[in-house]
Amino acid sequence: MATASSTVRLLLDLIALPSVNPAFLPAGDARTGEAGVAAFLGEYARRGGLAVEFQEAAPGRSNLLARLTPSGPVKQRVLLAPHLDTVGLPALDLLLRPKMTKGRITGRGACDTKGCVAAMLSALLAVAKSGTRPTETEIIFVGLVDEENGQTGSRHYAQHGPRAALAIVGEPTRLEVVTAHKGDVWLQLKTLGRSAHGATPHLGRNAVHAMARVVEVLETDYAASLKSRSHPLLGSPTVNVGSIRGGTQPNIVPAECVISIDRRTLPGESEAGVRREITALLRRHKLKAEFENLRLAACHPLETDPGLPLVQSLCRAAERKRTVGVHYFCDAPPLAAGGIPSVVFGPGDIAQAHTADEWISIASLERGTAILEKFMRGLA
Ligand SMILES: [Zn+2]
Repeated sequence: MATASSTVRLLLDLIALPSVNPAFLPAGDARTGEAGVAAFLGEYARRGGLAVEFQEAAPGRSNLLARLTPSGPVKQRVLLAPHLDTVGLPALDLLLRPKMTKGRITGRGACDTKGCVAAMLSALLAVAKSGTRPTETEIIFVGLVDEENGQTGSRHYAQHGPRAALAIVGEPTRLEVVTAHKGDVWLQLKTLGRSAHGATPHLGRNAVHAMARVVEVLETDYAASLKSRSHPLLGSPTVNVGSIRGGTQPNIVPAECVISIDRRTLPGESEAGVRREITALLRRHKLKAEFENLRLAACHPLETDPGLPLVQSLCRAAERKRTVGVHYFCDAPPLAAGGIPSVVFGPGDIAQAHTADEWISIASLERGTAILEKFMRGLA
């Protein structure tokens, strides 16, 4: 068995290591993102008897792969895949001093997602140490870079990493097994008018007024139509007009207006499909607006078959009768898009992620470690 103290000690060490995603560091900051964490864990895994390699996903940023090979030939693989980066906060240095009080560990990354890192690696090392490794399943701990920003690590792994029958992506799910979450499509719409002097508005065409009608239709008709679609774990898709920008000053008829739209999608919906239905909606209402090209990657929805044998084994180890859906993104969709069935699982609660006093309960951390170990032992 992995001892509770080995997971706790590993988590305390991890919190003390800086790991802010470089995308959130000020320009010129010399800190090196999650590289220090990857190096530390690589050494830790090697001492524990795992075969370690690094996979460069972006310059200076490498995923960590630590393998436990089976006793026989490799017939399938399972990935334990938490991310190594964290978000930053102004009081960052304070959060790098982990505290342990009242059954909790507090510090940046405690729940998102160094708790998962510690639980997954401790459980795998316990299996490695026990001498009874799985007969035909190779288990790879994959520490992924850049989850909090562009998911570069999981996108790279999906293209270049070894195939697997299941990836357990580490995020704080309160030890639920997550098989679904919504996707997200960000779009911009633009209306064009004709500028004129504010004293003679009839000589122009007001782009803000045109957009006001578009917003109204999106927030009423379109939003209502989305409510008629539903997914058993995720509910209905949604639309939100999140920003509007148009015109320059009161005495000029505005020539241009732009809105941004956040459209949360269900499995089966695509960005192209969303664009098509909005175009049709505007046409029906005789409104004219054009899509602008927004260079933001859409996040795909996740839907993994809860009936897959390995998913069922994980549910049994976690004593969960059914899988659940969540509302946040993670590395699971990029891995799933690359053909690796993926679920999300880990100790801690997403409600504490990214907060100023991020914490994880030690009981959850220990239980998560025990569940993962039980699952892996079941692969023997
Ligand atoms: Zn996370």
